[in-house]
Amino acid sequence: MNRLYNALQLKRLYQLKQLGVKYIPMVEKRIPSQPSLPNDLKLLERIVSQCQLCALSKTRTKTVFGEGDPQAKLMFVGEGPGAQEDISGRPFVGRAGDVLTKMIENAIEIPRGDVYITNIVKCRPPKNRTPKPEEAFTCLPYLMKQIEIIGPKIIVALGATAYHYLTGDKSGITKVRGEIIDMGSYKLVPTYHPSYLLRNPSAKKESYQDLLKIKRLLCEN
Ligand code: URA
Repeated sequence: MNRLYNALQLKRLYQLKQLGVKYIPMVEKRIPSQPSLPNDLKLLERIVSQCQLCALSKTRTKTVFGEGDPQAKLMFVGEGPGAQEDISGRPFVGRAGDVLTKMIENAIEIPRGDVYITNIVKCRPPKNRTPKPEEAFTCLPYLMKQIEIIGPKIIVALGATAYHYLTGDKSGITKVRGEIIDMGSYKLVPTYHPSYLLRNPSAKKESYQDLLKIKRLLCEN
């Protein structure tokens, strides 16, 4: 019954897409419930692995669903998989991944396995370009369901793209980094993306301040 419902929902989405319907940015703070997606992380991962709802599915090697503690209090959301993630099916395993691991383990001082890590889009954008709005909005229900299932207290938006699609706000990351935004069921803290830190090492100081703030927030929650 559930499968039939999901199949009908998918068919409806395809039809709407063909009619030119664009997805509307999610600006509501409350996580919209995703009733057509399962409340089980493993099942959701299987659905994502078969997804063909946007053009990124045609060029991907593997989907990159996310990994970590399924009951994590702290979640990190990046932009989208890169080359190594596309091959391995795991998030943040390349050079940016090494930086993220250090951010978690050296600054926040918790094991990487204690947090949950995922991205706005689950398939690699060609040449690591920024995901197009239609790709991000098509993929967003999967992230919303992950948030709904895992129920983190704090979400760290890594970079402007993650911040933009989680809030609907197009402000630059330099302006909003380090803010604590009440999103209802969780607090959102935007900070620099690890790839940005690789290109701009001088931003590491500010990044460290943000991470200390996240660490304090985690102790309070
Ligand atoms: N790897 C990911 O998984 N996400 C990013 O945003 C960058 C690298």
